[in-house]
Amino acid sequence: MSARNGRTRARDHACVWGLKFKCMHACTATTWKRGLSALTKEQTNLSTVYGPVPSWRLGRSLGIDVLLPPKKCTFNCIYCQLGKTNVHISCPEMLSEPFVEVDKVASDLDEVLKRLDLGSVDVVTFSGTGEPTLNLNLGKIAKEVKKRVASLPLAILTNSSLFHRRDVRKNLSWFDLIIAKLDAGDDETFRLINRPADKKMHVETIIDSIKKLKKGIKGTMALEVMLLRSEDGQVTNVDGKPLRKLLDAILDVKPEQVQLEVPYRPPSEGSVKPPPVEKIEPILDELSKTLGEDKLWVYGLHDKRGISVNWLLHESLEKEVVELLRRRPCCLVDVSMSLGINLNAAESIIRRLEKRSLIVSQISEGERYYSYHSPQ
Ligand code: SF4
Repeated sequence: MSARNGRTRARDHACVWGLKFKCMHACTATTWKRGLSALTKEQTNLSTVYGPVPSWRLGRSLGIDVLLPPKKCTFNCIYCQLGKTNVHISCPEMLSEPFVEVDKVASDLDEVLKRLDLGSVDVVTFSGTGEPTLNLNLGKIAKEVKKRVASLPLAILTNSSLFHRRDVRKNLSWFDLIIAKLDAGDDETFRLINRPADKKMHVETIIDSIKKLKKGIKGTMALEVMLLRSEDGQVTNVDGKPLRKLLDAILDVKPEQVQLEVPYRPPSEGSVKPPPVEKIEPILDELSKTLGEDKLWVYGLHDKRGISVNWLLHESLEKEVVELLRRRPCCLVDVSMSLGINLNAAESIIRRLEKRSLIVSQISEGERYYSYHSPQ
């Protein structure tokens, strides 16, 4: 995509949200005038399709990464399993590389579908290396993916930061399940936990735009809430005012589902810890009383993992493991289930990749997680 195209798109969209959001002016003045660099050779070679990964909420989830590494996000959450945000930006126009195109995702998916038994997949999930709504081709990509996996639901994991944009809400209308992040109900806690690139972003705007999106979609709206506490207790959403504000925000949104998580994978900041059970129990009590027990999904109580995926053929087990771990740190059993191979075979691949320094491991909450380690 040329710089000229980029500038044209920025002007075209300015009438929709340009006057409302300062970031637009900054983008037009800086990034767009510099033009867009092309995708690197490494990005072009990397598949946008990964997994299926075993998800505690969704079962066997085939992943679509519409961003590609390095990680690009509007947030830099203290608990992020992908580490620090490399490209920390407040809107799509600040991306310095072109959006991943529909054709790239379609051909990557066609290649995987030749080898994968789609009957052993429960859902197709848009997630990956950052915030997927940053890609403004998202709607077109979702439509193309839907054609290929018609019987499966399309889900998306998003941090909700761009829902104020009409184009983003339109893109999201293609999904059967939108899992929207909400970790705080007050600005101070929001900034401490999610660390938004746009310092002027308010959590109230996010809450209002989640409600607006919810009204305009046919699919299901779920809230994903990470319950956490830092070791020194300075950052928390399970105590005092931050907890009250968070609960009020959840109840205000009235989602069709609430998914409560704790940071069990290695977090970006080592001080982040899962809260003790006695902090979580009253939260479950209040939410189940007000929203209904059937609307609550709780990590540790509910778990849809444990069923293996069937592959007709593997292209390269090592490559598939690397592509998986670039998008999500996994323990050995996750790798084994994702690839439909036994634990010994999974372990031997992991050892080979460790010897080549392509992956590293870390213990978190008593479990060893493997993640990708960039050679640079
Ligand atoms: S957890 Fe999600 S929203 Fe937060 S920094 Fe990581 S990718 Fe971005």
